[in-house]
Order: sequence, then C-alpha cells, then structure tokens
Amino acid sequence: DLAHPPEMEELRKCLALWRKEHPVARPTLRADIDEELVEIHAPQTGKVVGEYMIASQRDIDLAIARATAAQPAWDALGGEERAQLLIKASDLLEENTPRFMDLCRREAGKTMMDAVLEVREAVDFLRYYACEARMLFGAPQPLPGPTGEQNLLRLHGRGVFATISPWNFPLAIFMGPTAAALAAGNTVLAKPAEQTPLIAALAIDLCHEAGIPKDVLQLVPGDGKVGAALTSDPRIAGVAFTGSTGTAHAINRSLAAREGAIGTLIAETGGQNALIVDSSALPEQVTRDVVASAFQSAGQRCSALRVLYLQEDIADEMLAMIKGAFEALVIGDPADLATDVGPVIDAEARDKLEAHVAEMQESGFPVWRRELPEFCKHGHYVAPTIIELGSILDLDEEHFGPILHVVRYPASALGSVIDAINATGYGLTLGLHSRIDETRRFVEAHARVGNFYVNRNQIGAVVGSQPFGGEGLSGTGPKAGGPHYVTRFATERVTTIDTTA
Ligand code: NAD
Repeated sequence: DLAHPPEMEELRKCLALWRKEHPVARPTLRADIDEELVEIHAPQTGKVVGEYMIASQRDIDLAIARATAAQPAWDALGGEERAQLLIKASDLLEENTPRFMDLCRREAGKTMMDAVLEVREAVDFLRYYACEARMLFGAPQPLPGPTGEQNLLRLHGRGVFATISPWNFPLAIFMGPTAAALAAGNTVLAKPAEQTPLIAALAIDLCHEAGIPKDVLQLVPGDGKVGAALTSDPRIAGVAFTGSTGTAHAINRSLAAREGAIGTLIAETGGQNALIVDSSALPEQVTRDVVASAFQSAGQRCSALRVLYLQEDIADEMLAMIKGAFEALVIGDPADLATDVGPVIDAEARDKLEAHVAEMQESGFPVWRRELPEFCKHGHYVAPTIIELGSILDLDEEHFGPILHVVRYPASALGSVIDAINATGYGLTLGLHSRIDETRRFVEAHARVGNFYVNRNQIGAVVGSQPFGGEGLSGTGPKAGGPHYVTRFATERVTTIDTTA
C-alpha cells in the first residue's frame, strides 16, 4: 500500500496512544482588540469554532505607537535575555500541544498528523531563533584595522516589524518569522491570516505568559486591509510576509509608496513545484513520494508537488502505480486518524480549485478524480485530482490544493523541461528521481530553485537541517530555519574609536 508507508502507520499508532493520554481542552478565545466581530467556521463542517475582532485603524495606530516606544528597551536587553524568553515561550507552546492540535484541526481543517507536525515545527523555530539571538546579539564583533583604531560591529533590531502570515501553517509560519524578528531586537505586530486568528491568539497569549512584554509583541487580527494598513505606515521598519506572490507584489508597492521610510521586505511566496522522474528511478519510491507530496495537507503546502514530469517510456507504468496509491487515499474527517486528505481552507479556495479543474476538462486535458465520501458534503472538500498536461506552461498560476498535473517528456528533452520550469518564474521546490549522477548534476546546475530534493519527497522547512525558501517569484530569501535568516531582521552598526586620542 504505497499511499500508507509503514512509518506513517507507526506514527499514527503513537499519535492514537498519545491522544488518549492528553485529553483536549476547549479554548474560548477572543483577541483583546475592539471593533468588527467575525466568526470562524471549521472547514470540514462549517460549524462555528470561535470569533474574533478585526483591528480598526485606531487599534493599529495605537499598536504601532506602543511597539515604537518599546523597541529601544527590547533591543538593549541583548540576545541572551531575549533567547531565554523565546525558550520559555517554546516550552509553553510545547506543553499546550493538545490545545494547538485541536485548534489546528477545527480552525484550519488539519489532519491530526499535520497538526502535531505543525506544533513541532513552531517549537523548533522558536528554539532555533533563540540560539541565533544568543550567538549573534552578544558581545560586539571586533574588526581588523590599523594600529591606534578600534572597530566594533554590533547587530541591532531594525525597529517595528510587521509579520504577516498565511493560514496554511497557522502556527509554525505565524510563530517562525515573529520569533526571528523578536530574536533580532525588533518589536513585532503579528498579523495572522483572517482564516486562523484563534491559533495565533493562543500563541501570543503564551508568549506573554512566558514574559515577552505585551507592547513588544502584539496581535493585530484582520484581513488584507489590516495587513495593508500596517505595510503603508512609515513607522514600520520591515515586513516579514508569507503568502501568495500576488500579495507580495501589493506589499512591495505599498512599501515603495511610503514617504520618509525605506522598508525591508522578507517575502516567502508561492511556487509551481515540479518533480522530474527518469527511467532509472525506483517506481515504488516515486509513487510514495508523489502521493505524499501532492496530496498530504490536501495539497495546501507551499512545497507541494504540482507538476510531475515523467520520462515517456516509463510514464504509463508509473501513472498506473500512482493512480493505484491515489485510489487508496482516505478522504474525510481530519479528526479521524486514518484520514490522509482533509478539507481545503474555505469555500473560496474550493471554488477556485473546482473552476481550474473544469477549465482543464473543457480544454480537453485528461482528468481523473476521486469520489468524495458522504461526510465531505458538509465541508469545503476538493476531490483529489490528476490532470495530464502538455507542459508546466499550460498553467498560469499556482493551484493550491489536492491537484496533481502530469506531463510526459522524451528522454532527450531534459534541457527543455528545465527551461520550461525556469520559465514559470517561480523557484520554490524541485524534485528529481534519478539514479544517474550526471542527470542530478545537470538539473542542479540549471534549475533556479531554492530547495532541490533528490530521490525523496518534497517537504517544507526542517528547522536547522533543511532551511526553506524560494527564488524569483517564490521569495526573497534568506531561508527560514537557516543560519542567515535572523540577520535579515537586523541592522549593522559599526563604532570606530581612535585609541591614540
Ligand atoms: P495570501 O497572500 O492571500 O494571504 C497571506 C496574508 O497576507 C494574510 O494574512 C492576508 O490577510 C495578508 N494580506 C492579504 N492582502 C494583503 C495586502 N494587500 N497587504 C498586506 N497583507 C495582505 O496567502 P494565503 O492564501 O493566506 O496563503 C497561501 C499562499 O502562501 C500560497 O501561495 C503558498 O504557496 C504561500 N506560502 C508560501 C510559503 C513559503 O515558505 N514560500 C509558505 C506557506 C505558504
């Protein structure tokens, strides 16, 4: 059963035992900022999960003023003190794993497996950036110079950072950039996605409980308008954004239009991720990796496989195996441990994905779809789908859901396959299944992507060991969870002293 590798079954068993020992608390959360009240609905059932208040312009002004006033003292605290607070926050997040898992399921429709990995990643980000704070923001670095001169380089926070995050990793990607900005000595206004503010509110509460001052880290809940109000304010020194490429363009314009301020933008955006499979690849391994990467998390990972390139002489055999595993995927209630594919985030996402499938069908591309079980009729589900195309360039944008596109290519055309992938302008993840070293070297040398996976599945960040981020339309870098990330949130100051005076 290639859709359910043995290690996943082991994990499921552990999770089942662990859940029994950790009964879930039901949090009732509300952001403590006044104005417009919005209900949050579970993607799988449409039932109300909670409610939150959208921040008004007055709330935003006040939050920026508080964050501006608090920043010098937070910066002056130093890396070690900030690290201790971040570590304490990571411990509290970890202790609250059952509450977060429950919220990830109810608010974002995550399967239990995805939910537990999400909490793990958030905790890892906090600890990794805490270590960075210790290493980078301690004693000043002496620089060489002529006799009679002392040069010292110090890293400082840039000021007030806005962190604007997506719903697809409502804890990990909400906490990651926020922790990095804090580690570097910035105060932070954290704007979660409008679909997942409850998870964010719990995380912020725990950070405050850990001792991070309330003016240093503030939650600013709301939609894109709230995000735009933050990015257009000249008091914001930098924006760490994760989300779609279109929104990154809008933020770029907004930052550039401000009078009297030059802002920093760190953007992690969308992708058009491909996997190339040649005739030397191992079919079972390819099948497992393709199905996991394209359909886990209902295809709602930025790293997820979108376009599978199959060398034409093995394409029929490979497609038959992939379809076999695709048929074995369990679609349904994310609360059920057996579920592989849960809902997509909301009705808008579902309608966009369905429109894409319909358009491909009308254009004559072959399409295979799974039947949705009865349970899914009440929620926002998209049936896992495979569509055969002529080229990656038949797609005009990223389709963020459980849809795998397949393209056949002749063995002699590897160069044009890479050219087509590069021509999309995206550069997030690329996979290769091949046992030929020369092929790997060729793809590595010519593909413009941030994360290249060889003979394994395409996943997102593994903090510390697989830092993650794209090039071109997929982001500015540096890579999240990597050694250069925190420095982008900092500014360098050099003091030169004439020691002969
Ligand atoms: P989105 O761009 O719609 O929204 C992301 C955030 O931006 C939300 O908080 C939203 O409220 C805010 N926003 C919207 N308009 C804004 C504006 N004009 N000004 C300021 N903020 C604004 O993205 P999404 O649908 O939430 O997330 C899915 C996308 O995120 C996909 O494209 C996915 O590939 C990408 N993503 C990328 C990575 C990565 O590491 N590269 C990771 C996760 C998700």
